[in-house]
Amino acid sequence: MAKYTGPVCRLCRRERTKLFLKGSRCFDSNKCAVDKRSYEPGMFGARGRFGRKQTDYGVQLRERQKARRMYGVLEKQFRRLVQEAVNMRGVAGENMFRLLESRLDNVVFRLGFAVSRAQARQLVRHGHLTLNGRRVDIPSHEVKVNDTVAIAEESRELAVIVDAMQVSAASGLPPWVVRDDAGFSGSLTRLPRPEEIGAPVDPQQIIELYSR
Ligand code: SF4
Repeated sequence: MAKYTGPVCRLCRRERTKLFLKGSRCFDSNKCAVDKRSYEPGMFGARGRFGRKQTDYGVQLRERQKARRMYGVLEKQFRRLVQEAVNMRGVAGENMFRLLESRLDNVVFRLGFAVSRAQARQLVRHGHLTLNGRRVDIPSHEVKVNDTVAIAEESRELAVIVDAMQVSAASGLPPWVVRDDAGFSGSLTRLPRPEEIGAPVDPQQIIELYSR
């Protein structure tokens, strides 16, 4: 599946739920497209899916799309990640969230260096981040607990980063990360529990989809 480059609010409307893809705009009900138009996009969106009942397979596909869209992961990579989650010890659905939350782009977002995962991914790709002192430009790179994620020295005055840090300082960081504002760095103190993430996704449906 190719990379989606269209309007991202449309993705939320298709899933009829907020996927929080646009930073602070998502928290403003006057600007959020799901709050303003809580029906699916397209000509017949307001009519719903013609009253059709969704099959089990359809439900599983929608859950997968929500997770993929939230974390911005393409199908091939997502399938690999779910397979890895299944092969790990423990509950596969929880493992899946752990792997998604360990991605470098997601950690950059959680640390408040970017207002959205898409912005975080771009910062990583453009080489503005270091991991344990070494520059890393692969968004899917795994971050381990206590690894140090930092903004590269020459990127610390970028307005996009400074603004995001101010926004996140005001709204608060998740309890599983710590940030050193002066050092433009931070780390995971632990991985979040699925209920802390609050993703509108049923991971079990995704695991079942890939075990077909
Ligand atoms: Fe989704 Fe955010 Fe757009 Fe609302 S503003 S529809 S949550 S991306």
